[in-house]
Amino acid sequence: MKKTIIRLLKLLAVFCFASAVSIIFFYSNDSQGIKADAASKVDLNYLMKKYPDGKYWNHVGMSRNNADGWTDKPCRHYLVGGWYKPAGTCNSFYGIQCWGFVNKLANECYGTNNYSQWPRTTLSKLKPGDAIRFKNNSHSIFVTGVQGDIVTYGECNSEYSNCKIRWNVRTTKTQIAKSLTGVYSAPSELTVNLTNNTELKTTTVMYGKKLEVQGNASGGESGYQYQFSIMKPGSKSYEVIQEFGISDKLSYIPTPSGSHKLKVIVRDRKGKTDDKILGFSVLTYRFINKSTIEKNRVKYGDQIKINLAATGGSFGYNFRIMAIKPSAASPVILRNYCPYSTYYYKPWETGTYRIFIDATDREGRSQTVEYDFTVTADKLVNTSVMADNVKTGDTAVLMLSSKGGTGQYRYCIEVKHPWRKEYITLRSSYSIDTFNFHPTKDGVYYFKVTVTDRLGNTAQKKFKLTADSAVKNTIQYETNRTADTGLKA
Ligand SMILES: [Zn+2]
Repeated sequence: MKKTIIRLLKLLAVFCFASAVSIIFFYSNDSQGIKADAASKVDLNYLMKKYPDGKYWNHVGMSRNNADGWTDKPCRHYLVGGWYKPAGTCNSFYGIQCWGFVNKLANECYGTNNYSQWPRTTLSKLKPGDAIRFKNNSHSIFVTGVQGDIVTYGECNSEYSNCKIRWNVRTTKTQIAKSLTGVYSAPSELTVNLTNNTELKTTTVMYGKKLEVQGNASGGESGYQYQFSIMKPGSKSYEVIQEFGISDKLSYIPTPSGSHKLKVIVRDRKGKTDDKILGFSVLTYRFINKSTIEKNRVKYGDQIKINLAATGGSFGYNFRIMAIKPSAASPVILRNYCPYSTYYYKPWETGTYRIFIDATDREGRSQTVEYDFTVTADKLVNTSVMADNVKTGDTAVLMLSSKGGTGQYRYCIEVKHPWRKEYITLRSSYSIDTFNFHPTKDGVYYFKVTVTDRLGNTAQKKFKLTADSAVKNTIQYETNRTADTGLKA
């Protein structure tokens, strides 16, 4: 019985001591009654949105305290004896400037009023949510991340002159230790939800160039994976272009030109996700049809070279070539969908052609250039030859040739016999270069040789042949036939 009483007393003593400790702990650690192992009421992203980086925790232009807000205008603390005295515009929450701001953040997270009432801890036990007083008791900060020696934090009025809000400021425990006043232990660790911080370096990409994106996230459980999807201009849905786990970088050539949307989904190790949609535009240089023709005057029978070229727009150009011929009023297509850079055209008419070259890029931009060129031909000249006289019964050779004109010569040979009054046609044909004539009777034979070229131009030459049975030898023309017969054109 005695033993039991002693045991009970011992138990009671331990209980009382434990209670006293827990009461002291409870009181000093968290006067608002938040459990020590609970997460913070709000997460870091909430705080960063409510008090944006670069804004000022003050009430410039307002008549009263603005602890739950901010302004775009800095305070103008004035310098007295080496210290900035607060301007009347500083916000206050159980303190002003850096101190008040840390109190306010701590209050949002844990419901407490003054962080200095939190228990002291050490830098080795530092956790997100804790408050630090340092710089020889001149500055307070709110810890948002701890990784080894690196400490990330939020603060206000680090310049002691303007009450500017900053987030994601980095330093080291080593650095903090040099001027440390105290580390104050938050009732629990600050909640940092998974956040997709991915940004685009540029919101414009030139057509044909790569879009480079680096996935970036914070909070949640690290071990992030990213999925990248694209919504093209005119589309209403996203198309996955890179799946989770392949890389946290995207290297991608977006087409077509216009406004695109990139959706980046980050997934943490626990499977939580956070989406981010980023807009960008694909731009093109101005599309210009640079096609030309080689010259604007060509000899009949030659070909004309057409250079097909374009710049800008979207690559993958296509060309269509049309011409209005000298004899026509409307254009005809010479070549549709020409992928080559040069095109040769041989004109079959003399006179002025108009050439149209349409260039179209891959996205259907189109531009037409037009040029005139003239096809010229030399005057058609009949250069045929024939002997003046022949021994009756022998052969007189008519050698047919022409130059100039448009080639493809056709010859018509007519003769007027000594005993007739009219010419009769002996031969009308292409592809002849000699004609043999046999006079059967003495007398004068008259010849008309007419050449007609491809375009119907004509040139006539006349000959007079005397046939005489008294002539001893027939003399034939021995001529160098340099003139083009036109047959080989
Ligand atoms: Zn201020």
